[in-house]
Amino acid sequence: MMKAMVLEAVKTRLHETSLPRPECGEGQILVQVCACAVCRTDLQVADGEVPNPKLPLILGHEVVGKVVEIGKNAERFKPGTRVGIPWLGWTCGVCRYCKSGRENLCEKAKFNGYTLNGGYAEYMATDERFCFSIPDSYSDAHAAPLLCAGLIGYRSLVKAGDAESVGIYGFGAAAHIVCQIAKHQGRKIFAFTRPGDDKAQKFALSLGAVWAGDSKTQPPEHLDAAIIFASSGELVPQALRAIVPGGTVVCGGIHMSDIPSFPYDILWRERTICSVANLTRQDGEEFMKLASSFPIQTVVQTYPLSKANEAMSDLQNGKVQGAAVLAMS
Ligand SMILES: [Zn+2]
Ligand SMILES: [Zn+2]
Repeated sequence: MMKAMVLEAVKTRLHETSLPRPECGEGQILVQVCACAVCRTDLQVADGEVPNPKLPLILGHEVVGKVVEIGKNAERFKPGTRVGIPWLGWTCGVCRYCKSGRENLCEKAKFNGYTLNGGYAEYMATDERFCFSIPDSYSDAHAAPLLCAGLIGYRSLVKAGDAESVGIYGFGAAAHIVCQIAKHQGRKIFAFTRPGDDKAQKFALSLGAVWAGDSKTQPPEHLDAAIIFASSGELVPQALRAIVPGGTVVCGGIHMSDIPSFPYDILWRERTICSVANLTRQDGEEFMKLASSFPIQTVVQTYPLSKANEAMSDLQNGKVQGAAVLAMS
């Protein structure tokens, strides 16, 4: 048996329950979960903004754990190996997206903690092909946020191209990792937070941002690109006004409120708006290589598994600096 925090219906709290350990199917590994970070998407799945989750559901898609059993034909990892499990849990492998290096767009894709059970539990069975090795230099809790905040942040930064100056709207878990990568790459980060959130602005500056201010204000200079991690659609025209001609606004979230109408003038001169959806395994391999080449200092606030509801409400209420992580041991 194992303990798990289960979502029975949307708009309710998770409840703690005892379940049989999941079966380790063909091509799968059974992982003893050591840490699982809490992502904003978990909140959006629980409250129905990201629709149609499998129910009942075990949330969690930033999982670090130890392989304890391997299924038939699973050969990538030996028992005892530490692995990371991200959002992308399965793809069809034969559609036009899968065959062109864009498995993140696979229409049949399945996602951990959404359409598959995730890591808010003591054990998780998962397809070994979608797991990553984790650099040894990170503890379980510090590695967990790399699996979504880090990965989606990295994909968003790649979409920003070779921008030298990058604005980041919403300074949570993804931003605090992207800020360090961008600095390491010699870029300048401008951090935008909720108006009046001095704590988040100080946090951004402490991680190497060259400027931090309110999302309603304009930066001191025009930026080459902007990444929006916050879920407020109003930020899109704000960000378009902040970037140079030819610049890009990257929307990094899975859910965003409606974008208000805006004058064509702020898009004209070849500015681009794009979104980031999910991740590919190649993103994961590239990102883990990057994470092993220099130390990303993830800032984590840990909670026991049984306090998953508290971790989620702290994240919802802006009480988490960096990332909230469920630590199982
Ligand atoms: Zn996530
Ligand atoms: Zn596919």
